[in-house]
Formats: sequence, C-alpha cells, structure tokens
Amino acid sequence: MTEIVPILIGDRWMVPDCDAFTPVHRPATGQIIARTPHCGPVQVELAVQAAKAAFPSWSRTPAPERARVLFRYRELLESHFEELAQIICRENGKTLDEARGDVRRGVEVVELACGVGQLLKGEVLPELATGIDGMATREPVGICAGITPFNFPAMVPMWMYPLAIACGNCFLLKPSEKVPYTANRLAQLFLEAGLPAGVLNVVHGSREVVEALCLHPEIAALSFVGSSPVARRVYELAGQTGKRCQAAGGAKNTLLVMPDAVDSGLLGEAAAADPTLKAVLQSAFGCAGQRCMAGSLLLGIADACDDLRDQVASAMDIMTLGDPLEDDDVSMGPVIDGGAQQRLATSIGAAAKQMSLVRDGRAGVPPDGFFVGPTLLDHVRPEHDLFSQELFGPVLGLMRPGTLEEAIDWVNQIPYGNAATIFTHDGGAARTFAREVECGMVGINVGVPAPMALFSFSGWNQSFFGDLHVQGTEGVLFYTRQKTTLTRWQGGTTAFTGVGAKNR
Ligand code: NAD
Repeated sequence: MTEIVPILIGDRWMVPDCDAFTPVHRPATGQIIARTPHCGPVQVELAVQAAKAAFPSWSRTPAPERARVLFRYRELLESHFEELAQIICRENGKTLDEARGDVRRGVEVVELACGVGQLLKGEVLPELATGIDGMATREPVGICAGITPFNFPAMVPMWMYPLAIACGNCFLLKPSEKVPYTANRLAQLFLEAGLPAGVLNVVHGSREVVEALCLHPEIAALSFVGSSPVARRVYELAGQTGKRCQAAGGAKNTLLVMPDAVDSGLLGEAAAADPTLKAVLQSAFGCAGQRCMAGSLLLGIADACDDLRDQVASAMDIMTLGDPLEDDDVSMGPVIDGGAQQRLATSIGAAAKQMSLVRDGRAGVPPDGFFVGPTLLDHVRPEHDLFSQELFGPVLGLMRPGTLEEAIDWVNQIPYGNAATIFTHDGGAARTFAREVECGMVGINVGVPAPMALFSFSGWNQSFFGDLHVQGTEGVLFYTRQKTTLTRWQGGTTAFTGVGAKNR
C-alpha cells in the first residue's frame, strides 16, 4: 500500500479519515508514489478552528516580529533549496533547472514579505478637520485560504501564504492533489522557522474540499490559481458567502516574431542558440508547455513564416526528453499524468486533420512515463479550436498574419488575456503592440513576461476573475483591509505654539 499524504492542522500532521484518494505519480516513470486523501468539510472545519485560535495572537504580533519569522523561513528555504527542487522534480516531472526556478520565484515572494513593516505603513493627515487627525491603516482580513494548481508546486502557493501571513492573517492552503509533497515540505519548514501553530494549515483533496473552503463562512479571503472553468466557479461560490476572491485562470499566450528579429536560414544548434528562437522554444516547451505563461501560438508575418517554421522545427529536433532525476541534461520532462498525455494526443490528432503537422510529439517518446514530445502545427487560423483552447502541453501552433495590425487583431480575439510577446528590433512596432494588445502581461523580446514578486501577476479577461491580483502591491491590498481612524483630543489646541510658530 502506498503512503497516504498527511495534512497539517495547527502543528499536528495527521492522516485524515477519508474514503477517496488521488494517486500521486512520478510522471517520469508512471509509478504511483503516494495517495492524496480527499478532505472535505470536516477537515476544513478543523483547520478553520486552528486558524481561529491562532489569529488573535498572530495578528497582534508586531510586524517586525512577524518579519523575523519570515527572515528565518527564507534562510531555511535557501538551505533546503536543492531538496525542494528534487521534490518538485519527482512529483511534477519538470527538469531540475525548472524546479529551481519554481522555488526561486517563491523565495522572492518571501523576501518581499520580509519587508512587511514597510509594506503596511499607512497614511496620516494631521488636521483633517479642525482639531481632528485622520489615519488610514491596513488591517489583516482574518482567515484566508489558497487553492493551487499542479504546475508550479512551490511558486504558486508562495504567491499566497507568505504575504497573507506576513500581513497578520492565518492561512489554509489546499495544494494540487497531484503534487502534495512540495507544499507539505514548505509548511514544515515554516513551522521550523518559528511560525506559531495554526497560522498555516494544509488540507488536501479535490473538488469537495475546494467547495468547503469556498462556502465556509469564517474564511474571509480566497485565492485561487488553476484552469478558467474552475476559477470562474470558485469565484462565484466564494461570492455566495461574501468573501473577497482573486481567481487566476488559464491562458493562450502569443509570441509574435517580426521579420527583423531573426536572421534567416539558421538551422539546428545555430537556430537553438539564436536569442529570439531560444526564447520562443523556452516559452513554448519549458515545463513541457505546462505553464500559464507558455507561448502556445507563434505568429510570423507573411513571407517570413516559412523560414521561421523551418528554423523552429530544426531547433526542436535537437531537444531531448527523459527522466530529469536520472539525466540532468534533458531539455524536457513528462507531462503530469496519463490523463494529460492522452488528452494531448487526442488534441494533436484532431488538430492535424485541420492543419499541417510539422513535428508530431506523439512519436518517439520514452516508453515509460507520461511523455509528449515538442509538437508544431502550421496554418492555425482564428476559427480553429487550437486558436482559443488551452492545451497545456508542449504544442505550438504557427499563425500567419499578413501584417502587425492583423497579428494584434488576432491576439485580441483570444478569450484569455494573460500574456503576449513581440520580438523585434523596431521600437515603433514594439510600442504599437504593447499599447494595443488586450492582455495583462506584455513581453518585448521577453518570451515569458512573468512579473516576479515585486509586480502583481496581472491576467485579464478569462485569465482572471476578481480585482486585486496575486503578489506585489495588489497582493498586500488583497490580504488587508483599510481602517480609517479620526482622532480628536478634548483639551488639545489647534493654535500652534511650539517651535517654528514664529514663522507663521
Ligand atoms: P485545475 O483547475 O484542474 O486545478 C486547480 C485547483 O483546483 C486544484 O487544487 C484542484 O484540486 C482544484 N479543482 C480541480 N477541479 C475542481 C473542481 N471541479 N471544483 C473545485 N476545485 C477543483 O488546474 P491544474 O490542472 O491543476 O493546473 C493547470 C491550470 O492552471 C492551467 O489552466 C493553467 O493555465 C492554470 N494556471 C494559471 C496560472 C495563472 O497565474 N493564471 C498559474 C498557474 C497555472
């Protein structure tokens, strides 16, 4: 029997009494390594009670003291950096370098959260009215919850709980049932750093536990990251109990390569080393295409398209697939599970009936594990499913707009609004593109324009439901609410009599 993944309530790790489980795979081999229990309202109630017990003391702990716990946490994350990357690699399947990036982006949010005293400074206006001073402060909202996807087992949870906790809240984390060990280890290290019991709790499971979190009346704020249909549903459910909610969804991101951005005729290693083509390949096939920032539509302009297609295909031919824990040098790991592998194979088959299949990722993959190779389809048009559906795998579609204006028009027909990139040496074209595309994150010669911790992760349209986005300044606003205090002291005087009065 495989291990059942424990949950964290207060400072106790326990195996919950559950009937249903999700198998946790090692995607590179297909082997089942554990079972994630499907928690429900019972475990959510236990976690809420633990958080409620911790909240009065934690929320009153001075911000610099809370920050000290975060500083210690950051040190522990650094000293366990490689271990965390290995855990991610094992349960998610991404390469070690990608796993390191996953942890690094998360640590950067912890570093942001270490500055919580500075982040929470409020506003003061003395003499708002005669004899009255006005002050606006940011207060914690109470108990917060976060629900996260499988593709960034460290980064996405860390978009949420470090800032929420730094701001004085208590937190319930519900990680993806497919990658539970990274979250458990992250929580263990936070306890080791001195986080009081109950400030961070971890419950596991799937739909039932998510619905229990959405509907629990004592949870004040809910952060969600995952696919758009679930994001929308979570946003609607959270509204039923009056919670504030930020729900980030899926994406279909575009990479426009202007004819001036690549020399013609580059093949093989030379193509793979070209800065633009390298950025295109990393965006499309990094993390096996399982990134909400993955560029999945490549746009060339008119006559330049044939050359672009040949160069990209030729660079794809030197990519290697394999088990990242066995071979440090593989360019791409597997997709998350057999369901994803099957879904991708079906989608590639369907797309190949409508357009030309330049490279077929269903062929020649390692026999064990959930592998799909890099795939390239040419002549995608706005009316094709591939244009607007998120496949979430290593599948790149090539589109052939006639002009920059047509490219922008096509980008703006995509229902999502996550990211769009232009590669060019022409500042005017870049500016037009950046101003006109209707999405929240724009890259100019940057293939994955993910904003890192200091800016908020700002998807639009079907890529985000809510108002305040995760991390950065908006993250702090999301996890706090404003209190205004007006003060009048009887017996005080409005006539200034102190130093400097003579200058009036
Ligand atoms: P998912 O929507 O299947 O799952 C996300 C979370 O929701 C998980 O914790 C899961 O347990 C839960 N869940 C799944 N189905 C549910 C249901 N019916 N009811 C309630 N809860 C449910 O997403 P995933 O497959 O884990 O992750 C991939 C998706 O996440 C992609 O669409 C990707 O674009 C998106 N994503 C978005 C961002 C972003 O910032 N916008 C970042 C990372 C991933």
